[in-house]
Amino acid sequence: MLTLREQLQHKPFRQWMAKTPNMKVQGHKPPWRLFVQRWDGGNWATADFMDYEQAYRYVAKHLKEFHDMALNNRREAFKPPIVRIAGVRLAYSPSPADYSHEWCGYCRRMTQFRFYISGKHPAMKNVQVDPSLKRCVICGVRHIFLHPYKLK
Ligand SMILES: [Zn+2]
Repeated sequence: MLTLREQLQHKPFRQWMAKTPNMKVQGHKPPWRLFVQRWDGGNWATADFMDYEQAYRYVAKHLKEFHDMALNNRREAFKPPIVRIAGVRLAYSPSPADYSHEWCGYCRRMTQFRFYISGKHPAMKNVQVDPSLKRCVICGVRHIFLHPYKLK
């Protein structure tokens, strides 16, 4: 899977990530959940942040140290940044011809969606998940739960 570090090599995505997003959904729990994978194929550890800037600074500081990261919003899904290529507005994709990666609106990055036939997803330890539904490999959101985004 493309790591966050690899995706941040793309300037439009890097600029978008550096901006503090406007959240529409209110809540009491910390909205930002940082997922950290120390090595390829390892477990994802999490830490919660109230504040985007604080979480983003942590990501920037440790980007080279960890294998992969995701700065996930637990409350709402975000559309990918819009890029303009030869005058055409397109949703950001690090490699448009690569269909193995899709945008996860909660993880706010390109990720992969898979079936969990064992009924266990690492991000949802105490829950039996439906093995017939594809889920984000990082946060576990169901693929069908993500609304298709419009470019406007
Ligand atoms: Zn996700």
